[in-house]
Amino acid sequence: MDNQQLLTMVTQMTLEEKVAQLMQLAAPFFEGAEGEGQITGPMKSMGVTEEMVRNSGSVLGYAGAEGTIAVQKAHLKKNRLGIPLLFMADIVHGFKTIFPIPLAIGCSWDLPLAERSAEIAAREAAVSGVHVTYAPMVDLVRDARWGRVMESTGEDPYLNSELARAFVRGFQGQNLREDVQRVAACVKHFAAYGLSEGGRDYNTVDLSEWQLREYYLPAYRAALDEGCEMVMTSFNTVDGVPASGNTRLMRKLLREEWGFDGVLISDWGAVKELIPHGVAEDEAEAAYKAIQAGVDIEMMTSCYVHHLPRLVREGRVEEEIIDEAVLRILQLKERLGLFERPHRGADPEAEKEIVFCAEHRAAARELAEKSCVLLKNERGVLPLARGQRVALVGPFAQSGDILGPWSWTGSRKDAVRLDTAMKAAAAEPGDISVAEGSGIEAMTEAQWAEAARAAADVDVIVLALGESSEMSGEAGSRADITLPAAQLELLRRMKALGKPVAVVLFNGRPLDLRGVYDTADAVLEAWFPGSEGGAAIAALLYGDANPSGRLSMSFPAAVGQIPVYYNHFSTGRPLGAPDAQERYVSHYLDLPNEPLLPFGFGLSYTTFIYGKPQLSGKIMTPDRPLELSVVLTNAGPAEGEETVQLYIRDWVGDTVRPVKELKAFAKVRLAAGESSEVRFTVTEQMLRYTHQNLEFASDAGQFSVFVGPNSRDAEELRFRLEKGPVTSGIRL
Ligand code: BGC
Repeated sequence: MDNQQLLTMVTQMTLEEKVAQLMQLAAPFFEGAEGEGQITGPMKSMGVTEEMVRNSGSVLGYAGAEGTIAVQKAHLKKNRLGIPLLFMADIVHGFKTIFPIPLAIGCSWDLPLAERSAEIAAREAAVSGVHVTYAPMVDLVRDARWGRVMESTGEDPYLNSELARAFVRGFQGQNLREDVQRVAACVKHFAAYGLSEGGRDYNTVDLSEWQLREYYLPAYRAALDEGCEMVMTSFNTVDGVPASGNTRLMRKLLREEWGFDGVLISDWGAVKELIPHGVAEDEAEAAYKAIQAGVDIEMMTSCYVHHLPRLVREGRVEEEIIDEAVLRILQLKERLGLFERPHRGADPEAEKEIVFCAEHRAAARELAEKSCVLLKNERGVLPLARGQRVALVGPFAQSGDILGPWSWTGSRKDAVRLDTAMKAAAAEPGDISVAEGSGIEAMTEAQWAEAARAAADVDVIVLALGESSEMSGEAGSRADITLPAAQLELLRRMKALGKPVAVVLFNGRPLDLRGVYDTADAVLEAWFPGSEGGAAIAALLYGDANPSGRLSMSFPAAVGQIPVYYNHFSTGRPLGAPDAQERYVSHYLDLPNEPLLPFGFGLSYTTFIYGKPQLSGKIMTPDRPLELSVVLTNAGPAEGEETVQLYIRDWVGDTVRPVKELKAFAKVRLAAGESSEVRFTVTEQMLRYTHQNLEFASDAGQFSVFVGPNSRDAEELRFRLEKGPVTSGIRL
C-alpha cells in the first residue's frame, strides 16, 4: 500500500477505530483464547471492551509462531478494515539463544559481534511471531546502584552510540519488508532515564539541556540515524515534566528538531503515571497531555481509548493529531509488509529449525568469551593448567541463573552451567570438585563444611560468586552494591585455606569490590553471560580463549564515589594542580577520586606493549586531519586481542570539557611476538561539542590526544586546531 492508500484508510476509520489503534493489548489477552477475543487479565480490569479489542493496533507479548498466526487470523476476520496487529516484545539480549547482558556486550567493544547478536535475536523472535523489539536500550549510565545499568552498554556516549547503531542494524537488517526474519527496533528510554536520582529506579531526573544534548542524547540520535523505527518514552521527569507528557522533549526535540516520523510509544503504564507524578488530575488529563506531547501508542493502560474520543468531540484535542498518530502506526505496519503478509516471519517450521540452533549458540559463546573482563590476575593463577585439581565453589558454580534480567524468553535449564563446562574442559572430569559453599545471601555451616571438603585436596580454588538476576534489572536498584556478606565470608574462609583463589563474578552492574578485589588472587568479571556462559568462562579459565573484554563502565573504589566515570570535568580545584592546597581541593577525605578500575580497563594472558605514538603534525585544520600511529606488540606468550583506545582533551572550551573523551578505538588481534602499526585519523569533527548556545562545533586551540589500553593509562600528545571557531551548523 502506498501512502495515499494509507491516508484513505485513515479517513475511512471512525474516531473509535482510530483511537483503538493507539491502544496496546497485553499478551494474556489471547492466552488460551486462540484469538477469539477473550478479554482477560489487565485489559479486562481496565474496562476494555470487545469492540476496542477488535480495533486495537498492537499487542505486547508473543505467542509463538502458531499462536501468533492464529491470533492474527482471528483478528483480521473481526477487524472491519482488515488492519493487522503489530506484535511487540522485549527481545533485549537474545530470544531463546541468550547473549550476554548488554553491559557485557558493551565490554566486548565488538561491533560486528554485537550486530550479529541482534540479528540472531531478531531471527529467532521473528519466526516466533514478533514484529517489534523494545530494544536497544541506550540510556547512558553512571550510577551502578541503578539496576538497569545491565541493560545499557555503559558510561560513554561514543561507545554507546556505536553499539546502538550496531544493534539497530542487526535487528532491522537492510530491508525490513523483504527480510521477514528481522524485527523493527524501538530505541528506549527517551530520555535520560539513566540519570535517575540516587540510582533509584523510576526516580526523578533533572539535568541541564546542555548536559542532555552533550551526553545523554547522542546514543538515541545514533540509533535513529541508523533508521531505528520506533522510540519509547521513559518513566522519569526531564526538566520537571515526565517524559511521557513532555511536549518539549517529544514534539519539539524528537519530532520537529530531529524530524523523527516513526512511532513513539509510552513505556509501560507511563501515560497513566502522569497522575501520580502530579501533572494530571485524572486519566482524561493524562491522555490529553500524552497525545499533545506526541505519544502515539499507550502501553498497558487505557487512558487513550477511554478518553480521547470525547476529548476530540469536545474540541480539546484536534482530530488531526490522532490521524497523524494512526498514520504513523499504519506506515510502520506497511514498512513491515504486514498488509500483504500479516503473519510476516511467523513460521512453525523455521521456529523449530533455527531457534536455539548450534550456530546461534556458537555466536552466543563467542560473544560471551569477548565480554568477560579479567580484572586481576596475580600469582599466575590464571589460566588454569590442565591436570590441576580445582575446587569449584559458590552459589554460581552449579547455577543456571546466568542469563540475567530480560531473558524471559530463554531457559535457565538449557544454559551451559559452569560446573558442566569446567568438567568438560578439564583433563579429567574428576579434577573438578564442586560445592555450593553458600547461597546468594546466606551460608550454613553445612554448606561451609562441604566447601572445605571440596577444597581440601586441590591446587586452586575457583569461586563463582555474584548477584542473582533479581538483584539488578528493572526495579533492581541497590544502595549497597557490595557482594552479599555471606559470599564475602565464603571468600574470606576459602582464602584462609592458603590456596590460590580465582573469583568469577556473575552480576548485572559494576560492584563495590571491597572484600573481593583485595582478597582474591584473580578476578574474572563474567556479568550474566547468557546461554553459553559456562562454556565461555571455562574456555577463558583454561586459556583456550584469552580474555579481551574492556570495561565499558568504571568500577568504583567504594559505593560512596558514585557517580564515578572517566569523562568527568576538571574542577576549579583539581587534585594535583601546581598551586593546589593540600586540603582545599575537590576530593573526599576518606576515599580517592579515582575509581578502582577505570573505563576501558581489562587484562589479558599476554602482554601488549605500546610503542611511542606518532602524530603526523602539530597543527590540525578542518580540512587537514592528523594521522596518529602507534606500534603495538604482543610481547607475551599467547595470541590475544587488544582494544586500542583513542581519547581527546580540549584544554580550553566555550563550556568546560571532560578530562578525556573516547573518540575512536580499534580491536587488534596479534599472535605471540607479533607487532602491528595501528593508525587513526584525528579529525576536526572529533573535536566538536555542544556550546552554550547549543550549537555543535569545535573551537581553535590546544588539544591532547591520548592513545593506550584504557582511559587511565593512555599516552598523551599535544596538537592545535587552527582556523576556528569552526561551526558544524548542526545541533545534536
Ligand atoms: C520497561 C521497558 C519495557 C516495557 C515492556 C517497562 O517496564 O521499562 O523497558 O520495554 O516494560 O515490557
